Amino acid sequence: MEISKVTKSVKAFGTEAADAPLKSLTIQRRNAAAYDVEIEILYCGVCHSDLHTARNEWHGSVYPVVPGHEIVGRVTRVGDRVTKFKAGDLAAVGCMVDSCRECEHCKEGLEQYCIPGFTGTYNDLDKHLGTRTYGGYSESIVVDEHFILRVPENLDLAATAPLLCAGITTYSPLKHWNVGPGKRVGVVGIGGLGHMAIKLAKAMGAHVIAFTTSESKFEEAKRLGADETVLSKDPEQMKKYAGSLHFIIDAVSAQHDMNAYLRLLKVDGTIALVGAPEHSLPVHAFSVIPGRKSLAGSMIGGIAETQEMLDFCAAHNIVSDIELITMDQINKAYERMLKGDVRYRFVIDMASLKNATGA
Ligand code: NAP
Ligand code: ZN
Ligand code: ZN
Repeated sequence: MEISKVTKSVKAFGTEAADAPLKSLTIQRRNAAAYDVEIEILYCGVCHSDLHTARNEWHGSVYPVVPGHEIVGRVTRVGDRVTKFKAGDLAAVGCMVDSCRECEHCKEGLEQYCIPGFTGTYNDLDKHLGTRTYGGYSESIVVDEHFILRVPENLDLAATAPLLCAGITTYSPLKHWNVGPGKRVGVVGIGGLGHMAIKLAKAMGAHVIAFTTSESKFEEAKRLGADETVLSKDPEQMKKYAGSLHFIIDAVSAQHDMNAYLRLLKVDGTIALVGAPEHSLPVHAFSVIPGRKSLAGSMIGGIAETQEMLDFCAAHNIVSDIELITMDQINKAYERMLKGDVRYRFVIDMASLKNATGA
C-alpha cells in the first residue's frame, strides 16, 4: 500500500468526544494518487450510524469522529491510472472506502464481508495516511475508484445521497431473501432505512406491511408503498399478523422485542436484522424452534450490488424522502432522529459547510 504523506487541509464537521456536539474541524485529505478520485462533496445523508458512532454507542469510536457515509458530489481531480471517472463527473461514496481486494469475499463482490475487514468511510484506520478515516461531513474526500459509484443522471441529487447507505442496506437483504411477487414482507421501524425498504420491496413486487411505533406515520407509509400498516405497540393489531409473513426486515435503532416479530413469521420465514441497537436483543428459543424460523443479519452491500441498486432506483424512479438541512443544524437533527422525528432522512446541503461553526 502506497503511503502518501502529501495532504491538504479541508474543513469538516465532527466531534471530539462522545458527549460533545459536532463542530467545525480541520482534517487532512491525501493528494489523489494513481487510482484515486477526489470529490467535492455536494450532499451528505445523515444515517443513524453517524449518531451511534459520534456518541460511541458501539464502543469503537476514536476521536475526532467526522461522520457521513451517504456522499454524492462532483469529481475535481483523478489520478493518472483512473479509468472510470474524470473531472466534472457526478460520483458517490457509501460506507466503504477500501478492503483487502484479495480474500474470497472481496473477489465475489462482497467487500462488506472482507475477511481482514473493509475500511469504513469514517472511524476506521486510513491505510494511506496511517491516521483515521473521516467521512462526508467535509468539503471533499479522496477515494480509490473501485469504491466510487456512478450517480444516475435522472435522479434528484440530494435525495440520491441516502441510497448509498439506507438504500443498499435494505436492497441487499431484500434481494438475498428473494423478495418479490407473492411474498408478504414486513418492514419494522420506518426511519431512513425502513422507508427505503418499503419503496424497494414494493418496486420488487412484494406485498408490504409497515410496522411502526408512530401512528402519525400510517398514512405516509401507505404513500411510500406499504399495502398495510400496523401499530407495533398494540398487541391486538400484532396478533392479527401471527404466522403470516415470509420475510421481515428490521431497521429499528433501539431496544425492542424481537420475539414479538418472530411470532409473525410463517414456517421457514426469516427476519433480517439491519438495525444495530447499542445493547443485545434477547431471543427466546421457542420464538424460533416452532416454525423453523431464522433470525439473520445483513450488512450494507458490495460495491457492484450498490451500483445495481442505484441503477434499479434510476429505472424505478426511486429516491429517498428527505429534509434538507444546513451543516449548522446537525446537532438538532441528531436530537430529532433520536425521537424518530425524521421524514425520512436528513441530508446536509454541503454548500452550507463553508460558513458553519456549530455554535
Ligand atoms: P432512523 O432513521 O433513526 O430510524 C430508526 C427507526 O426505528 C425510527 O424511525 C423508529 O421507527 C424506530 N425506533 C426508534 N426507536 C425505537 C424504539 N425505542 N422502539 C421501537 N422502534 C424505534 O435510523 P436509520 O438511519 O434508519 O438506522 C436504523 C438502524 O440501522 C441504526 O441502528 C443504524 O445504525 C443501523 N444501520 C445498519 C446498517 C447495516 O449495515 N446493517 C447500515 C446502516 C444503518 P417508527 O417511528 O416507525 O417506529
Ligand atoms: Zn449508514
Ligand atoms: Zn477482502
